[in-house]
Amino acid sequence: MARIVMKFGGTSVADVDRIRNVARFVRREVESGHSVVVVVSAMAGQTNKLVEFCKNVGSPSPALDMQNIEYDAVVSSGEQVTSALLALTLQNLGFRARSWQGWQIPLKTNNAHGKARILEIPETNIGPAIDGGEVAIVAGFQGIEKNSRITTLGRGGSDTTAVALAAAIGAERCDIYTDVDGVYTTDPRIAKNARRIPRISYEEMLEMASVGAKVLQTRSVELAMAYSVRLRVLSSFEEPGFADESGTGTVICGEDEIVEQEIVSAITPSRDEAKISLIAVPNEPGRAASIFIYLADANINVDMIVQSPSRSPDSANISFTMHVNDIETAADLLNKRKGEIGFSDITLDKEIAKVSVIGVGMKSHTGVASVMFKTLADRGINIQNISTSEIKISVLIDSEYTELAVRALHQAYGLDQLGG
Ligand code: ASP
Ligand code: MG
Repeated sequence: MARIVMKFGGTSVADVDRIRNVARFVRREVESGHSVVVVVSAMAGQTNKLVEFCKNVGSPSPALDMQNIEYDAVVSSGEQVTSALLALTLQNLGFRARSWQGWQIPLKTNNAHGKARILEIPETNIGPAIDGGEVAIVAGFQGIEKNSRITTLGRGGSDTTAVALAAAIGAERCDIYTDVDGVYTTDPRIAKNARRIPRISYEEMLEMASVGAKVLQTRSVELAMAYSVRLRVLSSFEEPGFADESGTGTVICGEDEIVEQEIVSAITPSRDEAKISLIAVPNEPGRAASIFIYLADANINVDMIVQSPSRSPDSANISFTMHVNDIETAADLLNKRKGEIGFSDITLDKEIAKVSVIGVGMKSHTGVASVMFKTLADRGINIQNISTSEIKISVLIDSEYTELAVRALHQAYGLDQLGG
């Protein structure tokens, strides 16, 4: 009997009816002979609500919230509810099922509360339990650190729970059920001509997730790639088995399995960006290091970094982007060290967006960047920053132009649906 992992996101377990619907999907896999682990998110909107509660009890800064052990105890509770409700639902249908909380697996993490990382792929007795015919329903998003306190894996972390368990039990595949029927060439709410991508490589999916596509948590794709876990994104709003029969959904797999590789596979917008600029930082060794060491120590992930000359030859301006949720914390932190770092001014900009063009075909084709820059220039869109990897070009623009940029680029790279 093959082992499989099925993960259901918040909209798939949004209420008791939706949970009953999930039970139908689980039933189909069990009845076709699979040993099944199910990973669930909290009900849609629940985690946001819990985060809000934490803010409302008056922690002095969001940074402290995130580092607060109790924050994790609160926000992890949403998954406890859905895992047990699904187990109850399945029991009432006559299945043997039990819920597993993160600490019961146990899913060991470091102690970076609010964005903890899994330390090792767990050695767990879930495998034997499911081989004995029981359905394991795991609360996603939760872990436990060495002092036995509950941790959470960062927003969207249930995906990572699912992949880690798939690796741990040697699952044949890990199906990620959500409210869309796969990964798209761009956000269909922005470009109505967006197309579903039947197969995409780990590498491309990783870039898409890390620049802001929300289908999968970045870390989950990283883990899937490292452990060759076969991922599939599909909709729980279709009938169970629909994707198998119709071939819809998106498979995330090795590059070698993709026959017809596009040069550019996707255009990914992200509005969750914010930029800090430090003006007139003394131009001498060690200054940049100290800025980024402080930010790294606070677990703030910095993205695009640009250093440019300032008015005086012995100083430079340094600007960098991060997730908008981190910007106040980062600014506080830098302001406290103003004397030591030596900048004269700091400015914050939240009205920016990052638009990325992604495709493994870039490795072997030239001219991808020039098409991007020309397309944006023709629309009068100014590029503030640029960053690249082997398979991605990202630009930072005024957020007002996000939609225009996405549609224009989608068309320029020939991604628009035919007849659309
Ligand atoms: N419930 C958590 C969140 O909303 C984790 C997840 O759903 O993946 O971020
Ligand atoms: Mg998610």
